[in-house]
Amino acid sequence: MKYYRCELHTHTTSSDGKMTPEELVDRALACGYDAIALTDHNTTAGVKRAVEEGRRRGLTVIPGIEWTTFWGHFAVTGGKSDVLWRDITPENVGEKIKRAQTLGDIVTIAHPRRMGYPLCSGCHCDYDIESISGADCYEVWSHYYPNEGVAARQQKEQWLSLLAEGHRLSVVYGYDWHNRDDVPPSYACTYVGSEGKDADSILRGVKSGATYISIGVEVECKAVSGGREYAIGSEIASEETEIELSCFRSEDYRSDKPTKLTRAEIVTELGKESFPIAFGEKIKAKATFERFCVVCIYGERKREEQLLAITGAFYRGGNG
Ligand SMILES: [Zn+2]
Ligand SMILES: [Zn+2]
Repeated sequence: MKYYRCELHTHTTSSDGKMTPEELVDRALACGYDAIALTDHNTTAGVKRAVEEGRRRGLTVIPGIEWTTFWGHFAVTGGKSDVLWRDITPENVGEKIKRAQTLGDIVTIAHPRRMGYPLCSGCHCDYDIESISGADCYEVWSHYYPNEGVAARQQKEQWLSLLAEGHRLSVVYGYDWHNRDDVPPSYACTYVGSEGKDADSILRGVKSGATYISIGVEVECKAVSGGREYAIGSEIASEETEIELSCFRSEDYRSDKPTKLTRAEIVTELGKESFPIAFGEKIKAKATFERFCVVCIYGERKREEQLLAITGAFYRGGNG
């Protein structure tokens, strides 16, 4: 399995984006992505052009849509669902998510704690969190400066508390890409562990939970338990788990690169524990958990310690 650089939340001139579908593909290639999903607001009008341009130029383009409702937004990828955004209400949102999933789509809770009205109607998620907790992914980071500020902190806390309650949501970043961004702003990337670069393989990787989000850091992380190795997103039966972790500089990352790493933090429903880590160094750490285990990587960036990467969860369960 290889980790691919993906951006699963983008817009074009088919909704309120500034790039045509062809320009989006061009910029995505220039930025070093392996795959993007096009998720225009409540329309798939640009999908065909983007997919065709991607095929011609060697970029995987995943069909999608952003359900943009008054109470909150969802990036829905796969292009298989017949759910209409205008039929979604706070009462039926859980059923609509389930229907989209049954038809083969992946549903992501988009930017749930971002500032809402009057800046952006429905950007802030007002749905009852329990009713949307059956979604596949959670945008823990979003848009520009994704790891800084109140929304990032609140989203991480809400995602971790959903995991602690036993829900399983893949971690994703949503660039929510609207502009050309010739001068790269502070942005992040979702890495997806997948058997291949095609749309179906990438979506299977997202669904399986094999993701991490990052600003300038490439992460190799696996769990070893009972003599077996587990990828991010796996279920682990045994209580005894060792996390193996190495981090490297992402050469593709262009804005405000991290200068050094400071620590890796293992987060479970029982608490947190930190270990020193440096670029290129392999660390092994024991983890004990009943529900989930996530790894957060911290380092120095813009002359302060920042959270630079978050892995998806390892879960307890199954037969190993
Ligand atoms: Zn949105
Ligand atoms: Zn959006």
